[in-house]
Amino acid sequence: MTIDLSSLLRGDVDRIDLDCAIAPDRAPDGIRLLPGASLKGTVTDLAGYVRLESTVSVPYEGECSRCLAKVRGELVFSFDRTLVAPGVIDEGELEENAENYLIINGGAIDPDSAVSESVLVEFPMVLLCSPDCPGLCPHCGKKLEKEGRCDCFVPETDPRWAKLKEIKWD
Ligand SMILES: [Zn+2]
Ligand SMILES: [Zn+2]
Repeated sequence: MTIDLSSLLRGDVDRIDLDCAIAPDRAPDGIRLLPGASLKGTVTDLAGYVRLESTVSVPYEGECSRCLAKVRGELVFSFDRTLVAPGVIDEGELEENAENYLIINGGAIDPDSAVSESVLVEFPMVLLCSPDCPGLCPHCGKKLEKEGRCDCFVPETDPRWAKLKEIKWD
């Protein structure tokens, strides 16, 4: 997705509002990115440098790492960059602080690949269907109740106690 900044770079405007579709193409293992990712924010000319401040939303689908249920969610994070023309920033500085800059090429920026990098960084390490997901029963593999119990698990009755149960206490 290319975002044209020529009106701002010419000085016609000092701010461009963005609300555009983006297509990040990298996701952590086991995660599928769904269509509909967006970048919303502004590009502002701050007398001397150009700043992009935006919020990225990426819908995704994955599996709960405890119970394997399908989880759908939306990853939302801030995506802020100083926009620079090629050659303005020293190569070394650019490499060390890649997360601070985005290069303007031919009067435009193309944030897709930088956004893809951020998706990998911002993604939660462990995906859960709910923060207190109890996971699966180790005996039968069914999803556990909230208290971590399962119907399949009946404690074995000691035969001696079973005899006791037959006694009538009246
Ligand atoms: Zn779960
Ligand atoms: Zn069970």
